[in-house]
Amino acid sequence: MAISMAAIAWQDEAECKGQPLYLFYGPGEGEDRETAKQKERRIQEAKSFCGSCEVRAECLEYQFRFAGQYGVAGGLDEDERKLYRRRKLRSDLKKKKGKAS
Ligand code: SF4
Repeated sequence: MAISMAAIAWQDEAECKGQPLYLFYGPGEGEDRETAKQKERRIQEAKSFCGSCEVRAECLEYQFRFAGQYGVAGGLDEDERKLYRRRKLRSDLKKKKGKAS
């Protein structure tokens, strides 16, 4: 799926702009693995950028639509996004059912 420039224009305003990808996604293939404690520290540091980010909502939406399940995005880690997504889908479904009746 091609992504238009307009769909990623919000990234210019990202608080994390210029930060290393490692901070948000962890070690890449072939790199040393991180311990659980190192991972937790890295994730907290990544999230510290998200807290004051003005494009947090856009980032989260983009992650759901195009980017997949890995890394920190929109202030949420992988597990938190799974939970958020489940709750959002349930809420959307309820709204949809409410409109249909
Ligand atoms: S919400 Fe976090 S990951 Fe997303 S653009 Fe902002 S700082 Fe970066």
